[in-house]
Amino acid sequence: MIEATNEISILYVEDEDDVREGYSRALTRICKNLYTASNGEDGLALYKERKPDIVISDIRMPKMDGLEMAKEIKKLDSDINIVFTTAHSESSYLLEAIELQVEGYLLKPVQKKSMINLIKKLARNITLEKENKEQKLVLQHIIDSENSISMITNIKTVSFASKSFLHLFGVLDVKELNEKFTTTLDILSDTEGKLNKSNIIDSMNNGENLYSYINSLEKTNRIITIKDVNDKIKSFYLNISKISSMNFLINLTDITEIEKEREETYKKAYIDGLTGVYNRNKFEEVFEYELKRSKRYKRPFSIAILDIDNFKIFNDKYGHLVGDEVLIMLAQTMKNSIRETDMFARWGGEEFTILFNNTTLENAMVSANNFKNIIENLEHKTAGKITASFGLTQLKENDTMRTIFKRADDALYKAKNSGRNCVKSEM
Ligand code: GH3
Ligand code: MG
Ligand code: MG
Repeated sequence: MIEATNEISILYVEDEDDVREGYSRALTRICKNLYTASNGEDGLALYKERKPDIVISDIRMPKMDGLEMAKEIKKLDSDINIVFTTAHSESSYLLEAIELQVEGYLLKPVQKKSMINLIKKLARNITLEKENKEQKLVLQHIIDSENSISMITNIKTVSFASKSFLHLFGVLDVKELNEKFTTTLDILSDTEGKLNKSNIIDSMNNGENLYSYINSLEKTNRIITIKDVNDKIKSFYLNISKISSMNFLINLTDITEIEKEREETYKKAYIDGLTGVYNRNKFEEVFEYELKRSKRYKRPFSIAILDIDNFKIFNDKYGHLVGDEVLIMLAQTMKNSIRETDMFARWGGEEFTILFNNTTLENAMVSANNFKNIIENLEHKTAGKITASFGLTQLKENDTMRTIFKRADDALYKAKNSGRNCVKSEM
């Protein structure tokens, strides 16, 4: 086994030549480097040059005594291990030595065995500390590599953070980071994300819970948003792993661009480009889904077709652009008026559809009349007032999308034939 002492270097200062030479032989055998000096002044110079791990020194020496040398050395490195060899007669120096907070005293004549034992003990501590420092350096290196955005936290305070993590919040070090946030969870922005602040904080009071919660989620749901130093909302994929009972390694992958693209794709697929409300594609998808559920749970379900009255006249009179503005105004108003459980979509042209979930025809008629009134009260700055006609129907046992829409269309036809700006139904 390699002794810890093989890794360390020692400075031994002793003015009596035969004593120094005697112990030097023993010390050389156990350490990596041994430096010797015969007075405090030479000892100090040697210390500055060699930076040994341990200093063993006599107290009474010519030129500069051991205490004075130790004081100077402690000024350079307060953590240095110093051991004095003293005789009983020098006990008056002992108090001073205690004040210096040295690591040990060996009484003269020093037993070689006790000197070696003490050095071995100190060496073990020194190597442990060195390893600790090295580990921390390695850790920091791993964390900083490949631009990874990561940190180690016990959820209350952060103990390590990669450079890129600090950059994200515009702070210089972990200390500043901890001052900025009360707990680690505060780095999350309040914006709605897949994993937003409220649903994390509600159930998470410690790292263990957070750890099991995150890992219980589907991978596609481990997405958080963070407001960076420039107040930009960014999306990250969150990975959390346990490194000890209290400490967790949190790793973030910036997916802001991917998320943006995903949103764009979603918009293209499901949102009407002109009015910003759901498009026919989305409506059909939701319709099929709700149709199945309503049939299975035997719940009522109604739909409406909304068609703007005499819209062609608006276009002809004020131009297509004003026509577009009217469409946007109506669509946005409807979107804001609809119940959260219902759905409003642009079917095409100046026609829109409404899906009334878990609603009888009777109740859907009440809502539709309400919408009719809301639209009637709208006013476009150029085109003025508009009205719309509604055709409604309720789901029947053997209905398909085609048959239910046929009835709604028939109802709309009735409304148009009854002078428009009204709500009609067909069963
Ligand atoms: P009715 O009361 O019978 O529904 O009469 P209408 O004029 O509203 O119906 P019609 O189907 O004859 O005309 C619909 C018009 O809607 C014709 C078309 O140019 C216009 N339109 C369809 N889509 C858009 C659009 O995206 N923007 C604009 N500005 N006009 C559109
Ligand atoms: Mg039409
Ligand atoms: Mg129309």
